[in-house]
Amino acid sequence: MITDVEQRYRSFLVEFEEYSKAIGRRALLVAVSKTKSLEYIQKAYSLGQRDFGENYAQELRDKAKEASAGNIEISWHYIGQIQENKIKYIVGKAILIHTIDSIKKAQMINAYCSKKNLYQDILLQINISDDSSKGGIGQEEAALLFEEVSNLERVKVCGLMTIVKYSEDPEDSRSHYRNMKNLASKIENEHGVKLELSMGMSGDYKVALDEGSTIIRVGSKIFGERA
Ligand SMILES: *Cc1c(COP(=O)(O)O)cnc(C)c1O
Repeated sequence: MITDVEQRYRSFLVEFEEYSKAIGRRALLVAVSKTKSLEYIQKAYSLGQRDFGENYAQELRDKAKEASAGNIEISWHYIGQIQENKIKYIVGKAILIHTIDSIKKAQMINAYCSKKNLYQDILLQINISDDSSKGGIGQEEAALLFEEVSNLERVKVCGLMTIVKYSEDPEDSRSHYRNMKNLASKIENEHGVKLELSMGMSGDYKVALDEGSTIIRVGSKIFGERA
């Protein structure tokens, strides 16, 4: 319920702060607001949250419109699947698109950006656990995709993202997150770049932080279970 958001958000922040201190590092918190109305977003916003994540292109478009009409300045993150006919709803609206997993999608975004004179920051989505139900490219293909997308003029690769299979035990995520960090380090060393790592959700964000996450995406722990 919306009346629980303040309490949930505050106690999440306490836990997150404490953990960040313990590991001596801060990550960006993206509050995942998919399926939740703008009132939920406003609530977290009024408590200081600025980065929000959405999975559905039209929902992002509609909420972004509503928010700016209400003078709320939000940094939107797009964390859902990319569909060609919906690119216009997200490009230039999201400060970061987390889910690019093919050169074709990157090229489409690049072309749209050229037409509209925009630039777009993106992450490459990696299917680190070879889970057929998840999007993303295999880790063997990541370096090549990084190079290809880096050659596009209007799309900037800022890092890597992954979604691992949900498990009751957060420790089940650890080896996957460690592999992500190793993959990112390899690309960083080869190309002399610094990469963001978007990994960790409500159930396993601490494990992700341990393993080097720089962006966590947390939904239900802040906004409650989704319908
Ligand atoms: C829904 C979603 C999240 C948040 O999941 P919670 O378990 O509710 O924290 C994070 N990342 C992606 C890609 C999602 O779709």
